[in-house]
Amino acid sequence: MLGMPSLRFSDGRAIELPQGEPVGSALDDGAIAVRVGGELRDLSTVPEGDADVEPVDATTEEGLHILRHSTAHVLAQAVCRLKPGAKYAIGPPIENGFYYDFDLDEPFGAEDLPAIEAAMREIVAEDLPFVREELSREEALERFADQPYKREIIEGLDESEGAGAETVSVYRNDGWSDLCLGPHVPSTGRIGAFKLTSLAGAYWRGDEHRRMLQRVYGTAWATEEALQEHLRRLEEAEKRDHRKLGRQLDLFSFPEELGPGLAVWHPRGGVFRKQLEDYVRDLHLARGYELVVSPHVARSILWETSGHTEKYLENMFPRMDRDEASYFVKPMNCPFHVLIYQSQTRSYRDLPMRLSELGTVYRYERVGTLHGLLRARGITQDDSHVICREDQLVQEIRGIFGLTLEIYRTFGFESPVIQLSTKPGMAIGDETMWAHATNVLREALDESGLEFSMAEGEGAFYGPKIDFHFHDAIGRLWQLTTIQCDFALPERFEMEYAGEDNERHRPVMIHRALLGSLERFSGVLIEHYAGAFPLWLSPEQVRFVPVADRHLEHAHRMAGRARELGLRPYVDESSETVGKKIRAAQLMKAPYTLVIGDREVDSGDVSVRDRQGNETRGVAFETFLERIREEADSKALEQTRFAD
Ligand SMILES: [Zn+2]
Ligand SMILES: [Zn+2]
Repeated sequence: MLGMPSLRFSDGRAIELPQGEPVGSALDDGAIAVRVGGELRDLSTVPEGDADVEPVDATTEEGLHILRHSTAHVLAQAVCRLKPGAKYAIGPPIENGFYYDFDLDEPFGAEDLPAIEAAMREIVAEDLPFVREELSREEALERFADQPYKREIIEGLDESEGAGAETVSVYRNDGWSDLCLGPHVPSTGRIGAFKLTSLAGAYWRGDEHRRMLQRVYGTAWATEEALQEHLRRLEEAEKRDHRKLGRQLDLFSFPEELGPGLAVWHPRGGVFRKQLEDYVRDLHLARGYELVVSPHVARSILWETSGHTEKYLENMFPRMDRDEASYFVKPMNCPFHVLIYQSQTRSYRDLPMRLSELGTVYRYERVGTLHGLLRARGITQDDSHVICREDQLVQEIRGIFGLTLEIYRTFGFESPVIQLSTKPGMAIGDETMWAHATNVLREALDESGLEFSMAEGEGAFYGPKIDFHFHDAIGRLWQLTTIQCDFALPERFEMEYAGEDNERHRPVMIHRALLGSLERFSGVLIEHYAGAFPLWLSPEQVRFVPVADRHLEHAHRMAGRARELGLRPYVDESSETVGKKIRAAQLMKAPYTLVIGDREVDSGDVSVRDRQGNETRGVAFETFLERIREEADSKALEQTRFAD
């Protein structure tokens, strides 16, 4: 082609680029990569003709992805400089950062991370260009002659790693190469702010029969400020870690004897859970749901009919065989609710039927993915199934949106991020059913005026779903609520109702868990509140701190009065000093602490200390009780102020 290629920008601008010049020469300094005709490319790309171009900035999501990926290359290059002969496997970008897996004769310790970082900074200072090369398979095998993991990728034609059947794409800085699809920042000098964060073991290809490699994690950002901001968030998250607070507040534990991912709730956790469960159950009853109960085990035939043995077996605890029957522990509650529906002949007048259960299920999550209460193997879902006529679907789903928003507002979560997920690879039911169910969910979202985005291929195996994500107090996003529309299970179980026309019809099923599971939601709440629960959720609401033993009796009398009013008091009977007792109350995040000494015994008043350490003296005890009872009853998010 003759003449200069013309580059068109999305804002309408056009630039003539001299023949043979890289596209980067026409862009602002801020760009680290570019979209050419919609495809992500290196700045060094020479356009073959006229093209639509869009610069990619390091601060955008795409830009950060490229930046983090490029930083992973530099990490591996640095490790090879420090440990000649190191074998490097793969190193993708991840949320907030990147990792790289290494096979080393002598693994690193945490104390080695600064030295690796220093070697990385040297490579950054050298400002080495990332040079893209297309090699034949033979050339590539030659290039990586002493890198067995790279050779395995090339031999496996792993296209996601750049190893296609025809050519293998390689990125080289200086003499160091990596297999890669790209694109990358133009040179190592364009790497942003980064920090290596941790080490872990990881099996090659995630396969426990393969070799255990050493994974080095890091975080990378476009600017130093963004990096510092992220590190502050991490520090804050660590302080709020629900596993740590769970121990400190004596809420729950994971005894080794139970196996991974199975928790026991201690008395304080038990009260917290009761509060949560009562709230959810009562609200559901008030919204026309009916409570049901189902067992934890059922014969395999049930799971065969539901499709679980076919599509969900990996997530189930192994089968149990006894007396020529086989059983599974339940991974879901749905089939039980179907059987409750089918216990009678149903007519259109019975619909919608909203069956609700705090149903405990067990899922064989991989040990490596378990994370305290946030990801456990035994969980209790606030699980309901709405069985209804097709013409009731949109209305029912909208009702569920309303209930979801109401519940989350109670905990101080606002502005959900909503996603509509479509058919995944592993699925039951035909295309028409999927399209229909997806449209119903979309219609409900449209009518409700809620903003949402699409997540292609992320649905459940039996139907598309809507997820509600909420931001917690430190800005982290949690996926919590799931609502699924399902035409498949009614079909498989041959569910029916008699219509107004006296004909038999098939109902539709909505699966929905609003909190998700009580375990996960509790974990999120603990981190969201940093353990300082609103009064109605607090295991302990008022702590009495007697100054001396002679005040103990009075403290117990007061606690008795509080208990009469339905409050949860606690008397510190230890023989510690008042200062230490107050410190203990703070560690337990006690909402109110009342110090009881001679003055209080004589006057009958109390001095009230809240969580912020505000102290108000001379509050009449009955007034105090009345006001905090109001606070608990109203599920207030803020503490009562007693000062004038
Ligand atoms: Zn790469
Ligand atoms: Zn279900």
